[in-house]
Amino acid sequence: MNQTIQAVRGMNDILPDEAELWERFDETVRAWLRAYGYRPIRLPLVEPTPLFARAIGEVTDIVEKEMYSFVDALNGEALTLRPEGTASCVRALLQHSLLHGGPRRLWYAGPMFRHERPQKGRYRQFHQYGVEAFGYAGPDIDAEQIVMCARLWEELGLGGIRLEINSLGSPAERQHHRAELVAYLERQGEALDADARRRLHSNPLRILDSKNPQMQALVEAAPRLMDFLGEDSLAHFEGVQALLKDAGIPYRINPRLVRGLDYYNLTVFEWITDRLGAQGTVCGGGRFDGLIGQLGGKPAPACGFAMGVERLIALLEAEQGEAARQAARSAPDVYVVHQGETTLRPAFAAAEALRGAGLDVLLHCGGGSFKSQMRRADASGAPLALILGDDEVREGCASLKTLREERPQRRIPLETLADEIGNLLFGDDDDGSL
Ligand code: ATP
Ligand code: MG
Repeated sequence: MNQTIQAVRGMNDILPDEAELWERFDETVRAWLRAYGYRPIRLPLVEPTPLFARAIGEVTDIVEKEMYSFVDALNGEALTLRPEGTASCVRALLQHSLLHGGPRRLWYAGPMFRHERPQKGRYRQFHQYGVEAFGYAGPDIDAEQIVMCARLWEELGLGGIRLEINSLGSPAERQHHRAELVAYLERQGEALDADARRRLHSNPLRILDSKNPQMQALVEAAPRLMDFLGEDSLAHFEGVQALLKDAGIPYRINPRLVRGLDYYNLTVFEWITDRLGAQGTVCGGGRFDGLIGQLGGKPAPACGFAMGVERLIALLEAEQGEAARQAARSAPDVYVVHQGETTLRPAFAAAEALRGAGLDVLLHCGGGSFKSQMRRADASGAPLALILGDDEVREGCASLKTLREERPQRRIPLETLADEIGNLLFGDDDDGSL
């Protein structure tokens, strides 16, 4: 027997009931991005593998073990399905000299690929919105991006997403801290877990991010990067905080927040919810002033963040349940029912004419009894059914039936249909409820 083929593990189909919620989410997000002056950029899903090794860092989780990399069988090129968008965005910025015209605010969206262990809120294909500002050095843009997120949560009706921030200082400050940290960790000997021992010389900062309960006390007592920050880094961090306070955005400084990617400096932040279990970070970002230079461009400051769409949608569903889906559901304005020898062509034409007039129209296709067609009309959620039978067609009319309230059925000449329906649905003399 033939087995049906299943989707790749960790890669999801988003079915219509949920996809409608995604559509509505997209609309809210895009309006919000416009309100802050961010412009879209569309980037390839596949990039040369060295881009990510250079941008994200050789010893990060992503590059070490999460990338879908392959060799192009036709020309031998090393390629990778993008695990994140910032590297691609900077590549495009440099390739097309986008910074020559001054600073840029850009956003991108779409699927990202990471070979992680699939679990709730963690998938192998997942979706992000990424927001990046290039060419701005001051704390104003960092703060604006954080405040911007708070506004989105509000517009989506999401509560309870808390903000954690930290400063990673400058590369020199990090270097100094790193040396002290390694010395401290080396003194811990056997108390370090296997993961920490592996990272001790490659990426010791990540040890501070350890989720192992046995490591917590050790991590608590480790030298803090915050204590190594110089005057400029502190001033930048305070600048961000002052603007957050002005905007009334509560936050917590988390000195252990380091983020999983290597390219960050100064401000880093995460938005976290407790309602999604272990996968509670819905958005993360920060400043990456070194990345453009690292990828071969003329150095320029940058700051950005990415949010995980699956997690935000899950939160919408957790907080708003069926109400969120209901609000996102789109029903047609009119369902066209037709039955008889002569009705298909006029029904088809009437449906097109109504769409031309701006209405959403579902034309019944595939025949069936009048009764079964009316059942479909009802199930479609449309407020109106337009009925064409042989009698109507003979008279050049259609019958209009309200489906959500009792009103007498009326025959209306085809020429005035669009106006009549428009009045009925959106007219001033009507509250629109049918
Ligand atoms: P995490 O600590 O959860 O692994 P991360 O630091 O790897 O996250 P980023 O690379 O900063 O995540 O990506 C930004 C956001 O994208 C995350 O906050 C999260 O919401 C989402 N995200 C990251 N990886 C996944 C995944 N595998 N599945 C679903 N969403 C993800
Ligand atoms: Mg990760």
